[in-house]
Amino acid sequence: MIDGLINNPDVGQLLEWAKSYIKDGKSTEAIGVIETIIDKGGSEVIAKNIINNMISLLEKCPESTYRDIVCARAFSLKGEQNRALGLLASLYYNAQFNKESDALQEKLIAAFLYISKRYDTDWYRILNDKCPRNLKDRSNILLKRFYFGGAAVDTPCGKKVVNVLREFSESQRIGKTITANDYYIKFLKIFSSATPIMKSKRIHAVGGGYFLALGGYGCVIDPGHHFLDNFFDKNHSIDDVSAIIVTHFHDDHYADLPSLMSLLFRRWGKTKTISESKISLFCDQVTRKRFKDLIDFSRNYIECVELDKHLEPIVITQDIILHTLPTSHNVFGRRDTGVGLAFEIPECGSSLVITGDTAWTSELERAYFSLKNRLAGNIILVPHISSISEKEMPLYIANSKGFHDNHLCLHGLCKAIEALEPHTVLLSEVGEELESVIDRIARLIKEVYEVNDCRWCRMGEEYPLLTQI
Ligand SMILES: [Zn+2]
Repeated sequence: MIDGLINNPDVGQLLEWAKSYIKDGKSTEAIGVIETIIDKGGSEVIAKNIINNMISLLEKCPESTYRDIVCARAFSLKGEQNRALGLLASLYYNAQFNKESDALQEKLIAAFLYISKRYDTDWYRILNDKCPRNLKDRSNILLKRFYFGGAAVDTPCGKKVVNVLREFSESQRIGKTITANDYYIKFLKIFSSATPIMKSKRIHAVGGGYFLALGGYGCVIDPGHHFLDNFFDKNHSIDDVSAIIVTHFHDDHYADLPSLMSLLFRRWGKTKTISESKISLFCDQVTRKRFKDLIDFSRNYIECVELDKHLEPIVITQDIILHTLPTSHNVFGRRDTGVGLAFEIPECGSSLVITGDTAWTSELERAYFSLKNRLAGNIILVPHISSISEKEMPLYIANSKGFHDNHLCLHGLCKAIEALEPHTVLLSEVGEELESVIDRIARLIKEVYEVNDCRWCRMGEEYPLLTQI
């Protein structure tokens, strides 16, 4: 019936038809007739009283998406663009709209396009980009269904995603979490972090590294596997990072470095402030070579300093001085590429020594003795134990060197304590196999060497660097 009316030029006649359809309870047909009048009248001006007649007829029809689309088009003909767009928008916002037929959804898009192009709005720009007129084009259909068809309860999908993205980026902008009064070392690992790459039923540890707060200056040390997970789990922010140190080229000490650098890149991209001081990246020569391109690309906001055991002490912030120490640790066949670290922290009356991964050697013994004489204040020693070794058992010592050839283990730890005479020993880089005995080792050290404190720090534990003098 409606098809038969398309060529009928008499608008008055059409209105009569619509009225009689409504009388007979055939509202869909009535709306179809009114839509035909609008289609035909698109290029010519339809008299206002006719439009008003159409609107009042539409209002007599039961509420439906189809009725509202046609009604919006009628408002638009009257020049009430805002009202028309509002009505169509409310349809998009309606979760039920998703269940409507493709034909009806396309009608809605077409109506939106038609109305909003006369009326420059954000909706027009979105629709014009995402839903061009040729709705047979599959990519357009897909985009249309994603951005509008799958509308959530409150907002269309596209808008919802944009809002969530904004929330994400705002949640990252939490600023610094450390203050000028914070001086601590935070352990962001549980066990020796080589373990997560050898997954088994027994082994469940995640890796990580350390975070030092040095009076508002934040220093990441050895960001290995899962470092960032652990760092953010403990509510730190990327703004806390003033420096990164990688002691040697083993993935359990640098695995998260690229991710950390890309976060710093994104932060720099957002602020691009030249006045802000650059992040310092201190790393051994192999790590520097391995990440050469990344480091070169980042030179606007990252300054790289290569560490080796001969390096002169560096002032890293305020009056905090960083010394490097030798290590003997197998890095793909080379034993001398890594470094140990010693931070002199006058503000706390202490020095923090992190051995790094190393075996005990006569070179280390000499370096530790000489360091002990140079460092002021109490020494807090963070030894990387790794494990224990049969070679260390007293029975065997006569027949062997008594030391593990790649890690301190228990015997090397004892020698480091004897050389440095620390005030406090915080056991670290502990292999998971030591879980049941590590507290006993800590107690033994405290008793035998009479140190002020010795303990194994758990994931997330924060140990103050301030010691009583
Ligand atoms: Zn290592």
